[in-house]
Amino acid sequence: MALTLTLLTASAARTEKCEWCVQGNPAATVAALALGKLEPAEMLKSVRKQGICVRILDSGRRAPPGTFLWSTIEQPSGKLSDITKIPGLMGKTLCADELPIAKGCPTIVLASDGMKTTLVHEFLHVKQIAKDQAWCPLSKKTWETGKTSPEEQRVFLNREWDVHRWLLENLDALRPNIDDKIGIVSNTMDQARMRASFDADAAQYVEKMKLNEKLNGYVNEYTELLKASRAAARAGAGGATGAGGPKPSASPSPKPSPGALTEARTNDLAKPSLLHPNAKPAR
Ligand SMILES: [Zn+2]
Repeated sequence: MALTLTLLTASAARTEKCEWCVQGNPAATVAALALGKLEPAEMLKSVRKQGICVRILDSGRRAPPGTFLWSTIEQPSGKLSDITKIPGLMGKTLCADELPIAKGCPTIVLASDGMKTTLVHEFLHVKQIAKDQAWCPLSKKTWETGKTSPEEQRVFLNREWDVHRWLLENLDALRPNIDDKIGIVSNTMDQARMRASFDADAAQYVEKMKLNEKLNGYVNEYTELLKASRAAARAGAGGATGAGGPKPSASPSPKPSPGALTEARTNDLAKPSLLHPNAKPAR
């Protein structure tokens, strides 16, 4: 009996409730799943109706062939480079008044070449922020100083890990495009690597979820879609393409590699220093 109690107590301590996590938050999960089922234009409408501002900003990047672009849904209303120089940024959630672009409302910034699920990703951050006293003051301070301590970086990394795992575990319900699948799996693997020094469970999670195998499968799927769309383009002299496949590209593209869809499409990370694993921590 005593042993059982001890084990139960130890187990309870390990599974301590995370107040701000979207994993294990049924209301956030229901809302994000509902959002993920919508068509992109309806997703924008739905998020705005919930009092969250959304801005699509031109990243100036060339997107891989056949990938989804937010700029085809809505005209960009500015340049991403005007608010950040973070390379590869696809989306960012700003607290209300954190930057001039977020005046008066929590604001989701989407890069013109962001993935469809980037909006769900950022929406999950909005849900985290709603329950997280630490986020907004820390984020604002980081924009002002451009610095984060290792402890502060961990605060951001923990929020990213929660969102990435939620997206990965709900991926099939989000009607993902092939670039969403590749992006979410590879970004989760990147996040796990960034946690290696303080979270042994992260590498185990990658193993358990078979992320390497998943990524290879998705990359093969993308390669096949690309081949099919090119064949359709040749056969139809620019005519119809297979339903749901990548659009034919005007010029031959290089053979896709596992990083082809993601190297220019790094999922949003909270701060510049986090995007550069080799950068020295602030202190
Ligand atoms: Zn994020």
